[in-house]
Amino acid sequence: MKGVKFMGVTVFCAAMVAVVALAAIRYKENTLVNPCEKLTTYSKLAGDPAEIIYDKEKQIIEPFAYFDDLYYVGLAWVGAYLLDTGDGLILIDTLHDPYVQVGQSNIKKLGFSPKDIKYVIVTHGHFAHVGGAACYHNKYGAKVIMTDAAHRKTKLDRNQKDFPITAPTVSRYVSDGDVLTLGDKTIKFYETPGHSKGALSLEFTVKDRGKEYTAFMLGGVGVYSRKPEGFDEFIATVNRVIGIVKDDNVTVGVIGHPMTANDLIKVGPSLSKRPNGQPHPFVDQKAYLEWLAKLKRDTEMKKKELLEDEKAGETATL
Ligand SMILES: [Zn+2]
Repeated sequence: MKGVKFMGVTVFCAAMVAVVALAAIRYKENTLVNPCEKLTTYSKLAGDPAEIIYDKEKQIIEPFAYFDDLYYVGLAWVGAYLLDTGDGLILIDTLHDPYVQVGQSNIKKLGFSPKDIKYVIVTHGHFAHVGGAACYHNKYGAKVIMTDAAHRKTKLDRNQKDFPITAPTVSRYVSDGDVLTLGDKTIKFYETPGHSKGALSLEFTVKDRGKEYTAFMLGGVGVYSRKPEGFDEFIATVNRVIGIVKDDNVTVGVIGHPMTANDLIKVGPSLSKRPNGQPHPFVDQKAYLEWLAKLKRDTEMKKKELLEDEKAGETATL
């Protein structure tokens, strides 16, 4: 298996923003009842970009072992990761209605029980990441961890008709520099603003065939703001992450929406079947740094376009 390429993010991010915006328009007829059990009915939107999210046949994929102790239990478009600490499980991000049940079923398919999830870490308050958190707390007693700001955003968003969210009960608010230790894992938290209020990034170790590597998960990719300051905030975040990756020798980039960055979804199921001696294709600091650098360039470009649009608007009104 060759090294994995991290894909350009601009086009995909723009597409996903469009998808989310369109889906928001199309989804407002639906009502969330119980994120654990009830699959919301929704209409298939043939030929519509929203179909990317709501077409179950495209979204539901087999879960797989990403590393010895990190498992992919997410969808095609949005990730959820299960970390086995040896003394209980940690779920990172929770999917969203109508797929929360799929996340639980993926966990069981891998031989784990959702009852063993001690903590749910939510990277940010967007529906696709926080949507299932209340379920894991209410049904299985998992403690939910997120930032105060992200929780406040979730509570504000819970009644919105586009993507209704059941706001979870939060057991612990974390801030920059905080850590969580469970079993043989210590997760270090970073507040990384720019994508969404209270976005949280994580640093932790993973093992591949017994060998330990440092992983980093950037909580939230891309900018939704239409203000230059929003772009500056995200660029500062990416600069900071690039520094952390170099300083801490991070070699694994864990991506919230893998299909925006690399081909994990495609090759993931074959990772555990690699012949002995074949390196793990996602242990690749260079590829991760290249992806982050491109993310920064793309964000700078978008900011430039925004400023040019604003200038053109001003000129037009003169
Ligand atoms: Zn997001």
